[in-house]
Amino acid sequence: MHVTFDHSRPETDNITTYFFEPEKPVDYVAGQFIELYIPHDNPDDRGIKRWFTLSSAPSDKLLSITTKHAKRSSTFKQALAALEPGTRLKMAEPMGDFVLPRDASRPLVFIAGGIGVTPFHSMLQQLAADKEHRQIRMLYGVPTENEIIFQDTFDAANQHVTVMVENPSPEWGGERGTITVDEIIGLEEPSDDSLIYVSGPEPMVESLTKQLIARGFGQQQVVSDYFPNYPTI
Ligand SMILES: Cc1cc2nc3c(=O)[nH]c(=O)nc-3n(C[C@H](O)[C@H](O)[C@H](O)COP(=O)(O)OP(=O)(O)OC[C@H]3O[C@@H](n4cnc5c(N)ncnc54)[C@H](O)[C@@H]3O)c2cc1C
Repeated sequence: MHVTFDHSRPETDNITTYFFEPEKPVDYVAGQFIELYIPHDNPDDRGIKRWFTLSSAPSDKLLSITTKHAKRSSTFKQALAALEPGTRLKMAEPMGDFVLPRDASRPLVFIAGGIGVTPFHSMLQQLAADKEHRQIRMLYGVPTENEIIFQDTFDAANQHVTVMVENPSPEWGGERGTITVDEIIGLEEPSDDSLIYVSGPEPMVESLTKQLIARGFGQQQVVSDYFPNYPTI
């Protein structure tokens, strides 16, 4: 399919949401991802396409992705940041099974590492739009308080989020440190029938998924979404 870049919205100094208008309505489920192509001059070895979770909800008119810009960005991210409104781009149809379970009674635990918060943003927005309530506990790890995004969506969805900051300022009054399995169990108290969704940088998701399973949670209970090329949150 093709989409037209509409506008961008800075979330923080280094995180931006990009909005696209699809050429025809797109059928997708909150939590799914797309592949975006941005042809540009002299691409680096990472190339001209990337996967991104749709941070928008299916009820939104525009599609959006939200991404973090590194100090030394890939040529793809530089081309993304330089997009002019009206630019037409190729985007693969949404795909993936990092989506809410059909059984609405299932308790859910969302674990977001940094920009891995994007699928949860889509899900919480959609639940709010549908006026649907699910039992959700959420733990969100960020490098500093400045990288907390989507607080408005959490508030609108009436969703309490435990934020854990790796390198907090002295004023930070919340949880401090890196998300570990002990924090997930201690703070979010998953039950035997909880589904635990983990999303974020590949090394973090891989490690937490393995540890959760080693601590007795079933393979089917842990649902993982891996973002490559981010070494840390
Ligand atoms: C299913 C799925 C969903 C995803 N959803 C999202 C999402 O919602 N949001 C999101 O941001 N990402 C998402 N990703 C990850 C995304 O596809 C990219 O891998 C990620 O954003 C990193 O982008 P980048 O390679 O352009 O690197 P950058 O973001 O530019 O940089 C990341 C790191 O790599 C370094 N770096 C940059 N270029 C190079 C290079 N050429 N050589 C060596 N090091 C380099 C940077 O200095 C930085 O440390 C998702 C991936 C998958 C598979």
